[in-house]
Amino acid sequence: MKDSYKLIIGGRETESSKTQKVFDKYTNQAIAEVFIAGPAETDRALKCAANARRIMADLPAHRRAAIIRKAAGILEDKKEELAVTIAREAGKPLRYSRAEVERCVENIEYISEEAKRIHGETMPIDAGKSGEGRVGHYERHPIGVVAAVTPFNFPLNLAAHKVAPAIAAGCPVILKPATATPLSGIELARAFIEAGLPPEAISVLPGPGSEVGEMLIKDSRVSKISFTGSREVGEHIIRNAGLKRVTLELGSNSAVVIDRDVEDLDYAVKRCILGAFYNQGQVCISVQRIYVHQDRHAEFMDKFIKGTKKLKIGNPVDADTDIGPMIASSEADRVQGWVEEAVAQGARVLCGGKKEGSIYYPAILANTTPEMKVVKEEIFGPVAVVEKVSSFEEGINSCDQSQYGLQAGIFTSNINRALTAVKRINVGGILINDFPSYRIDHMPYGGNKNSGLGREGAKFAIEEMTTLRMVIFNLNK
Ligand code: NDP
Repeated sequence: MKDSYKLIIGGRETESSKTQKVFDKYTNQAIAEVFIAGPAETDRALKCAANARRIMADLPAHRRAAIIRKAAGILEDKKEELAVTIAREAGKPLRYSRAEVERCVENIEYISEEAKRIHGETMPIDAGKSGEGRVGHYERHPIGVVAAVTPFNFPLNLAAHKVAPAIAAGCPVILKPATATPLSGIELARAFIEAGLPPEAISVLPGPGSEVGEMLIKDSRVSKISFTGSREVGEHIIRNAGLKRVTLELGSNSAVVIDRDVEDLDYAVKRCILGAFYNQGQVCISVQRIYVHQDRHAEFMDKFIKGTKKLKIGNPVDADTDIGPMIASSEADRVQGWVEEAVAQGARVLCGGKKEGSIYYPAILANTTPEMKVVKEEIFGPVAVVEKVSSFEEGINSCDQSQYGLQAGIFTSNINRALTAVKRINVGGILINDFPSYRIDHMPYGGNKNSGLGREGAKFAIEEMTTLRMVIFNLNK
């Protein structure tokens, strides 16, 4: 791993007057120093991006597709190095860091394919009386400068979710990575530059959200903000963005229902353990609440607790580590505080729940009430709440008792109950016989309720980076 990273303005690696250390989240040792942007650098990046609008819009689709495909290949060639970078800067256990890189490469490949399929359609203008003698179609054009603001928990793939579709659509892009994890975003941009992207079209500005992010979201040279992160910052952005298109991918509090007639309970348990605790629960679609039918509850609990106790806690760079540190010790403190508050209100901790530095031992909670913070807010940590329900109906009603709505998971072998759940639970994605933590990068992704606004997923994200232009021919003249 390189120990000094420059910020990138219009494709050029640049120094600034300030630097920031990036820490290994397990050892707390500095692993890199990064030059960070201030107002002057942010303004320069915005100027560059605005000037690159025409260059990008004139780049033919086959060239954009080829650049994106080549970037995927460059990342593929560096995949182990990238995985270690993620493991260290984000504290994500290596096996999941490797999976993130694999996903990122696949995601970028989808986007390179979709880059060739950006098109409009013809419209029956004469469907209206005033349209007689006219024909028309709409085209998709690049929306303009894209500001991409990303969180710490998938520092590579979530940056790719924004940067690659922007390029596919013909837009210059400025990436503002999370302060805790800036290295993966810089590596991503380097791959696109090496792949032949017109350099003016890409900038990466590590720096505080309250300064760099704030400037980007308010600047009128930006046409589109693509944000993934917390609900609080998402709400702030939507209130302050002005007249821009905004895509928000926010938090959640995902639930699982285990039905009485689930066929393979062992599989359901295995998926719930993974969904609740991988990446230390710092996943937007992590399993936070599990509602188990009373007839299977004792069996489920026994297996769930035994399986959770077997998880190996340790250094994320070790291949057999299941649980690493949270992104910061203050985050482990916050999670501990929420659990203690729940216990004071009557909840029971069935395993884990101990804090050591940034490590929080995976905790299973029971005897909770819907009013407790651990049940109704997004905990974003390794904590799962399990409650017994007397019917499937009660389980699906409970799923929806959340202000969030990204995804839900249902384990059942009864097709009618599965379809009822699909109809009734107000979320963006329902997984039948799987955990809600499954996502594939070409699926449309948006979420309901407080979880999102706009769409992601290869084709859908590209569309969000375009604007429609209607063309009408008057054949009467
Ligand atoms: P934050 O909302 O704290 O930060 C996200 C990004 O926003 C960071 O780059 C941050 O910069 C930046 N930011 C902060 N303040 C501002 C501002 N005023 N203006 C512009 N940008 C700003 O989220 P986390 O990084 O803590 O990520 C966790 C959250 O992300 C969880 O809620 C999780 O559910 C959600 N998430 C959602 C996903 C989805 O697909 N729906 C996927 C992954 C995560 P800085 O780091 O400098 O503060």
